[in-house]
Amino acid sequence: MGNPRFNLLALAACAAIWLALVLNAAIRARENPNSGREPIAAQQEIARFAKQALNDMQGRSFSSGKELCGLLLEDEAGDLSVSTISEGREADCDLPWVLPRGKFAVATFHTHGTFSEEYDSEVPSVQDLQADIDEQIDGFVATPGGRIWYTDWETKVASQVCGENCIAQDPAYRPDEQNPPAARYSLRELEKRQGIWE
Ligand SMILES: [Zn+2]
Repeated sequence: MGNPRFNLLALAACAAIWLALVLNAAIRARENPNSGREPIAAQQEIARFAKQALNDMQGRSFSSGKELCGLLLEDEAGDLSVSTISEGREADCDLPWVLPRGKFAVATFHTHGTFSEEYDSEVPSVQDLQADIDEQIDGFVATPGGRIWYTDWETKVASQVCGENCIAQDPAYRPDEQNPPAARYSLRELEKRQGIWE
């Protein structure tokens, strides 16, 4: 038979570890501190700002061959700004979710690095759209061909804001003649396209 006081302590320690694990899992599941929040800034203004930010990042993304990502932020008056920009790897990037005081996350944005025939990089990936849906935030994606996509977390649809060459284009870019991107994709349609590709 064990010491009842020791057993109680052991039980309390187990409970504390369990709670820490559960809390950690909950934090990981959603990192956006403003998930589901309706932006104050007008949608058109947000899209214009995202286009500018992505265009500015394209050159660096092409030369490094890495994804760059960040967040569009707004203050309480709806004035937009850009977060710090994170440098990712070839095909993923960690968003800077720790926000300055008084700033709110309005949209995610990322580039797709340099052109490669190994990636279907002219459309958002299933993971791109799914991540925004999970974080309950809209997003913008720039492609090597100079397209911009808008991902709407509520409708779960990705649509082209503007087509080839509407922002800086990678000189190495070659259009995919056999499988050109459609104007919009639902999550299901994107899964289908990605399935064909892989
Ligand atoms: Zn992406």
